[in-house]
Parts: sequence; structure tokens; C-alpha cells
Amino acid sequence: MPVIADRSRRLASSPVVIVGGGAAGIHAALACRRHYPDKPVTLLDAEAEIGYYRPLIPQYMLGKIDAHRLFFWLHDQDPLLTLRLNVNVASVDPSNRLLQLEDGNRIAYERLILTPGGRPFVPPVCTSRSCRLGVFSVRSLADAGAVRRWLPDHRHIAILGGGLVGVKTAVQFALAGYPTILVEREGHLLPNLLSHRAALPIANHLRRLGVDVRTAATIEDIRGDRNGELKEVRIGGEWTVGDTLLVAIGSTPDLGFLEDSGLLEEGELMVAPTLQTADRYVFAAGDAVTIRTDGGTRHRPWTWPQAIAQGKLAGANIYRSAPLPIGDFSRVNAQNIAGLPLVVLGGRPERFSAVSQFGDPPRWWREWYREKDRIVGGALVGDIAGAGPLHFRMTTGGVQPNAIAKPDAKAFARDTWRHLGQKRTVRYFFI
Ligand SMILES: Cc1cc2nc3c(=O)[nH]c(=O)nc-3n(C[C@H](O)[C@H](O)[C@H](O)COP(=O)(O)OP(=O)(O)OC[C@H]3O[C@@H](n4cnc5c(N)ncnc54)[C@H](O)[C@@H]3O)c2cc1C
Repeated sequence: MPVIADRSRRLASSPVVIVGGGAAGIHAALACRRHYPDKPVTLLDAEAEIGYYRPLIPQYMLGKIDAHRLFFWLHDQDPLLTLRLNVNVASVDPSNRLLQLEDGNRIAYERLILTPGGRPFVPPVCTSRSCRLGVFSVRSLADAGAVRRWLPDHRHIAILGGGLVGVKTAVQFALAGYPTILVEREGHLLPNLLSHRAALPIANHLRRLGVDVRTAATIEDIRGDRNGELKEVRIGGEWTVGDTLLVAIGSTPDLGFLEDSGLLEEGELMVAPTLQTADRYVFAAGDAVTIRTDGGTRHRPWTWPQAIAQGKLAGANIYRSAPLPIGDFSRVNAQNIAGLPLVVLGGRPERFSAVSQFGDPPRWWREWYREKDRIVGGALVGDIAGAGPLHFRMTTGGVQPNAIAKPDAKAFARDTWRHLGQKRTVRYFFI
């Protein structure tokens, strides 16, 4: 990353500086303002707009939601919260508590919170020089705006990456009537979250919705017309019509600007459960971090709810003499994929000593992973009955395998209310 080391530029200072204005960064800023009301906070981000729901990007691309519904936060004129957008942090110098910006300016801080999230990986095959138009990442509002402008004249969609982002994107495009191919290199969809069998109901469901699912395959090449507009993609040796390629391959932590900071360990931004980095004045949260627990186990729970929870904790912890640890960093993820419910309770089958499974793979599947006599994760696909109580029991260590196979929880009451214009319902269970 280029660093413009023009020392004549301005040196600003702010007690608290946050790098990254995604879910983690904004919640860190708000928590910090709430816990330490007399501490000014400066939030820096490379993007032109912040405070939007990244998970809604596919719907925004298709014009299914308007920009105003995309934002979960708007700057509310708090005079002690300064936003600086379109600003790239080039490097961090923890020994002098200084940030170097790409524009040459520097910022001094008392406390720093790093929430730079992830960077989408775009494989070289998708960046052919002769084909510059029609290839997009599924990541930022800027990308989504470009797709929105591109779509009216282009209808054949190829999506690279069968993880959560790719699956959700494919579903939205198929529902909107676009011919959609979803390409996943591994043998099944959602390979980072689910076992082969648990993923089968999802692939079947997508096919029913009209998605052309290709697993154990990749985009081998692309070609365009004379104007550099994408026209075809090659999958499994065959050229197929495709004028829009959406790259949804899992993101990797965006840590280039920390290379010389001394904060990385084996290339990872390692934090304690308190979210403190190797430097006691620097905290970090969200998709960029790896949390190392006392036993040395590394956790990378890169989800939206985790980014929020970690951001809030980092903001609250920064001036604490004894920072508090995060309570739960399991990778629980609940989704409804166009009518097919899915709850990932954390973990991945191959990491654990015992895996128990139950279901009817074309339609539904429930599985759980055990370490010693404790259930440490699982996935419920198509039939998610009792997921809430199961997760609660998982964290307390009291769940029995039978309870997962045949949930015995019974709902006894229900509450419904409206939040941000959406209907919310909670059911209370006997367990
Ligand atoms: C299409 C899509 C669908 C998703 N669906 C789900 C879902 O259903 N459920 C779920 O749990 N998760 C989902 N996710 C993942 C979820 O969005 C992320 O886990 C979450 O956004 C992480 O938040 P974050 O604040 O850590 O990072 P980010 O949201 O990535 O924010 C990081 C910010 O830091 C900025 N930044 C980075 N480096 C610098 C720098 N050097 N200088 C200045 N600024 C910098 C970036 O511009 C960015 O704005 C989805 C993601 C996408 C893209």
C-alpha cells in the first residue's frame, strides 16, 4: 500500500480513533460515546458512505430496496463524533500512537480501535484486461450501485462463490427472474459452514428456485466483446452466456496497512477475548480479527451479529483498567433462504471428535458436533425447531443429543411487535 510520507502535512489528534466504519466500527464509536461522553471520537473509513447493512447489498443491487432502507445508522450531529470518509489509513505506529493516512496527514490518538473488516478476493481470471466491464465484487455500496446501473441491459448472471454471500445473492437474482449460475469450487454449497449432507437441502432448494448450481467447478476463463464488455464465462470446459459476473468469494481480513505495526502475528490480527491487541492501547473487532482464548484456540466468528457485539465491547473496554472478555464468540447464524430456514450453531463437523446426524437430505437435515461429552456446534437446515433453546443449552453445556434430533421444546407464549417497520415475533419455550 503506498504511503505518502509528506511530513509537512497536518498532524491532527483525537482521544479515540476508529479505523473502519462497518458494523463493528460504528457500534464501537457509539459505545465509546456512551461510556465516555467527554471523549471525542474520530471514525475513519475508505468508503464514501457508511452505516449500511452489508447483508442487504444483493437486494439493493436489484432495486428491491431503496437507499434509505439500507442504512442502520445516520450521523446524528453528535459534535464529539467526527466522521472522515474517503480516507485510507496507510499505516499505524503504536509506539508513537500515530496513524499515517494515505493523503499524507497524520492523526495522534490515545486509544485506537481497528475494525477494517475483510477485503473481497477477486481471482486473476476475473480481472482480464480485455474484459473490463461486467465483473463486480459483492461487498460494498459502491459495487452495488455499479451493478444496479449495469443490470438494465444485462440479464445473464454468473456468481462465483457458493458461501453465504453467493447463495443469498443467487437466490435474490433467481427470484427476480434473472437466469443465474452459481459456481462453487468445493463439492457442496456453504463449505465453510456445513457438511456435505447438510448442504444438500440448500442446493435442492436453490435449484427449485431456478438457480443453476454448479459445485466442484470454477470460472476458468471469461471473454468479452470489442468494447471490453463481458459476454461469456467458461465453466467445466464449456463457454456459457454470462454478461454479469458477481464475485462473492469469501473475504480475507484487510490488514495490509498493519504490516509494519507489530500488531500482526503470523499475518493475523490476534486479539485476546477482551479484544485487546498486542498493544494495550489498541483494540480490534469484527471480520478482521482472530480471537485467541487462554487454551490457545483461535476463533474467527466473522458474522454481522459478532461484528456488532465485538464493536460494542471494544468501545466499552478501551478505557477500562480491567477490560471485560466477550461472552460468546460462537458463529451462530440464522437465515431464511427464500423459505428454507437455516441455523448454524457454530463449529464445523471435521474439527470435532464426534458428529451426529439426523434427517432427510433432500429436504431437511439436523446435525451436531461433540467434543468430549459436550455439544459445541451444529447445523439445522429445513427444520430449525427448538434452535434458540438448543443454542442456550449448548452454551451452558447441558444439551442432550436427542434434544437436537427430536426437539422436545414446546412453545407456550408468543409476543409480536414492530421494529424498524418490520414485524418481530418471539416465542417462549418450556425446555
Ligand atoms: C452481501 C453480503 C451478505 C452478507 N450476509 C450476512 C448474513 O446474512 N449474516 C451475517 O452474519 N453476515 C453476513 N455478511 C457478513 C457481514 O456483512 C460482515 O460479517 C460484517 O459486515 C463485518 O463487519 P465489520 O465492521 O467487521 O467489517 P466491514 O463491514 O467490512 O467494514 C470494514 C470497513 O473498514 C473500512 N476500511 C478497511 N481498511 C481501511 C483502511 N485502511 N482505512 C480506512 N478504512 C478502512 C472499509 O472501507 C469498510 O467500510 C454478509 C456480507 C455481505 C457482503
